[in-house]
Amino acid sequence: MNVFISLPNGQFGHVIWELTRIFFPDGEVKVLYTESDEKPVQEYRLGDYLLTARYKYINDWEIEVYSQLEIKPDEVLGYKIRRKKLEKNIKDSVLEKKRAIKRIICQCIYDLLAEHTGNRPYWGILTGVRPLKVVHNLMDEGLSDTEVLDILSSEYMIKQEKAELLLETANNQLNILKANRDDVVSVYIHIPFCPTKCLYCSFPSVVMNGKSNIADSYLDCLILELEQIIGALNKRGTKIQSIYIGGGTPTALTHSQLERLMSAVKLLTDGHKIREYTVECGRPDSLDVNKLATLKAFGVNRISINPQSMNQETLDEIGRAHTVEQIISSFHMARESGFDCINMDVIVGLPNENISHMEKTMASLASLDPDNITVHTLAVKRASRLKDSLEKYPLTHDDIAEEMLAVCRRWIRKIGMVPYYLYRQKYMVGNLENVGYAKDGKECIYNIQMMGEKQTIWGFGAGAVTKLYFSAEDRIERVPNAKDVTVYIKRIEETIMRKKMIIEKL
Ligand code: SF4
Repeated sequence: MNVFISLPNGQFGHVIWELTRIFFPDGEVKVLYTESDEKPVQEYRLGDYLLTARYKYINDWEIEVYSQLEIKPDEVLGYKIRRKKLEKNIKDSVLEKKRAIKRIICQCIYDLLAEHTGNRPYWGILTGVRPLKVVHNLMDEGLSDTEVLDILSSEYMIKQEKAELLLETANNQLNILKANRDDVVSVYIHIPFCPTKCLYCSFPSVVMNGKSNIADSYLDCLILELEQIIGALNKRGTKIQSIYIGGGTPTALTHSQLERLMSAVKLLTDGHKIREYTVECGRPDSLDVNKLATLKAFGVNRISINPQSMNQETLDEIGRAHTVEQIISSFHMARESGFDCINMDVIVGLPNENISHMEKTMASLASLDPDNITVHTLAVKRASRLKDSLEKYPLTHDDIAEEMLAVCRRWIRKIGMVPYYLYRQKYMVGNLENVGYAKDGKECIYNIQMMGEKQTIWGFGAGAVTKLYFSAEDRIERVPNAKDVTVYIKRIEETIMRKKMIIEKL
């Protein structure tokens, strides 16, 4: 079954498309562009849905929205009407008025589709990746916690438990975001290599098979980019707050390749007071005592060892060529090497997993006692093998996924962690969320800055995106590097030139 959305001039098309897709995850959702209040001219077939939304001004300060759902041929399944009086500050601003109209249309459609499908999504009408921004904006307006919660549930229709999670997370990261200064940045370095490919992976990561020397050529270019750009930033007096080497699996590099990268970074960042230096070790089978000793010697003070699940059958199914025992022994090895800030990632909604699998994973993690746990909800990305194998791996039901998240939250509270960053992705099971939890003082600064978008982050390597933050306008400008490793290598001179020109203009 397909859903066609009819909007005058296609206005707010993308947001309404995103919202509608949540209610009809299995059908094709398409926006039809009409220039009047007439029904769209395009033919839709028997059994297809047509969702229509229209708005009009009742007077200067009041708007009425009408939305209707019908099924071909011409059977009206339901409709909703919403009226809203605009406050003075909204009425007088074109941008605010547009935002308000969009929100009322979304509320009206949410009510209509929730009634029709019997599903009231946890995140209400919020479809964006960064729901925390809404909370920070409300806080900046001087609203109290109670007022923020009230707006999240009445205006954004977010369920109480998610609204409370958002507010708590926003409060826990406030100190770091408020301390930002224009001359302080963070650095992201991307290593696009992995030992094997995960079932759900949609990144253009290269599987290291030991035969290819592409990693050496890649490092040549990456180090050149770091030297040229960090060198230019150093001349301007820019300070670095945090470094994050991610991937991929950075420790999939050989020991000597890793050492080469780390010493280049050290040379370039020597005079900086780096508060946090993370290396995502990812797969436990990519780690050994020597690599850990090298990371430690070069000042890395946070690492990530990501089990995703502590159930062996699941690890085998999702294509991770390591055992549960390897996860445990790598964790102990890292502790013995002196790492006192270790993150572990888990994924809710992995194939064939249920609540008891989640209990086992979390009990096992709790016994290891890491410093951060990041709980992801599985996202079914178009470029993943999972997307093509959904018949073999049916997705976890939304409510079960939420119960699995509740299991994670219960264990995480038990070991004394609190939420400190949160984001959402497209195509997540149950349209849920990813949350980073940390023990007191162990919050990952880079994660907060990266999702907060209130600090410039310089990205290096294939697929890395530099995000320039202009505080006066509270605006981010993205400067992406080529995604594909071979294209990145081919275009390195051009990439460096472009970034140098940007630095000159800053
Ligand atoms: S570890 Fe990450 S980047 Fe590597 S294959 Fe798995 S999902 Fe993809």
